[in-house]
Amino acid sequence: MIFPDEPLSRHSAIRIGGPAQYLALPGSLPALLEVLEAVSCGKLPGPVRYIGNASNLLFPDGGMAGTLISLKRMSGFRILDGGVIEADAGAYLPRLAFHAARKGVAGFGFLSGIPGTVGGGVVMNAGTRSSEMADVLLEVRVVDRTGRIRTLSGSDLEFGYRSSLFQENRALMEGSPYGGCVIVGATLSGISGDPDSLMEEWVNLRSERSRTQPLSLPSLGSVFRNPEGCFSGRLIEQSGWKGHLRGGIQISPLHANFFVNTGRGLARDFRELMDSVRESVYRGTGVLLEAEVELLPDLSPASV
Ligand SMILES: Cc1cc2nc3c(=O)[nH]c(=O)nc-3n(C[C@H](O)[C@H](O)[C@H](O)COP(=O)(O)OP(=O)(O)OC[C@H]3O[C@@H](n4cnc5c(N)ncnc54)[C@H](O)[C@@H]3O)c2cc1C
Repeated sequence: MIFPDEPLSRHSAIRIGGPAQYLALPGSLPALLEVLEAVSCGKLPGPVRYIGNASNLLFPDGGMAGTLISLKRMSGFRILDGGVIEADAGAYLPRLAFHAARKGVAGFGFLSGIPGTVGGGVVMNAGTRSSEMADVLLEVRVVDRTGRIRTLSGSDLEFGYRSSLFQENRALMEGSPYGGCVIVGATLSGISGDPDSLMEEWVNLRSERSRTQPLSLPSLGSVFRNPEGCFSGRLIEQSGWKGHLRGGIQISPLHANFFVNTGRGLARDFRELMDSVRESVYRGTGVLLEAEVELLPDLSPASV
């Protein structure tokens, strides 16, 4: 359950990343609390960083110092009467969407092609043009820095386009009531629907994704957020970058906002390509692209 020097490439959707000093994969809330206790009494090193399925995270090539805690093994969920779903933070979104459809709970189809967990989905306010996490979230359960379990209402989480209160430093600030919180579960709500048509919708959404996105190669989904009123993929394509290769990372010939790992891609290649694309699109169109993927700083064990 706790692995020293664990290659993060094994736990990253894009298969990139050096070793974590320690990676913990607790399978239950008591196991997670034990890991947090071990960090607070110095048996495991800080800093602590929480991850889900790492489908929006670029780990550094040099690895990461401290203890990384992945919630992806806390993956249970229950579909209750009335379309309410109680999910652990590590529940895999496409699986949750599948079972909701099968049980005739509508409102979760948009999650069918988002390869993340409930926790990561809340932090990112993951979504599509049709819907986003904020639309279905009633409340989240978190463990705060002191080990206390608290329930926060979805309406208090300051959701925006692919953003929430949990992101960046806002949730980590000393003094913030949410400082250092880890999401351990969520209550989601859908509405009643017809299982056959919901299953048909699930299959159609999946096949639409396979047609329009490069799903046969590892990636992090959309690299840049869509600027107001336009699509990053279109701007990158118009700037002539589609298919461009740097090291082992390619700008997908199918969808220019997806950078895929062709086999030996490094975080360095990915970052360099992002910088080149951003600069080129800015020069050509005046639009400054903003990252949607999160680039983790190189805090390799050797550098601290
Ligand atoms: C092929 C592909 C398609 C995609 N399509 C979409 C799409 O259509 N729409 C979309 O919005 N995204 C999409 N994504 C991006 C990604 O799947 C989402 O952002 C997803 O919500 C990330 O979830 P995760 O569990 O992988 O989170 P991670 O990438 O592991 O983490 C994301 C952030 O959440 C934090 N975090 C994760 N779990 C917790 C927790 N339990 N407690 C506290 N903090 C936590 C991490 O520290 C990090 O800051 C796509 C990605 C891929 C690879």
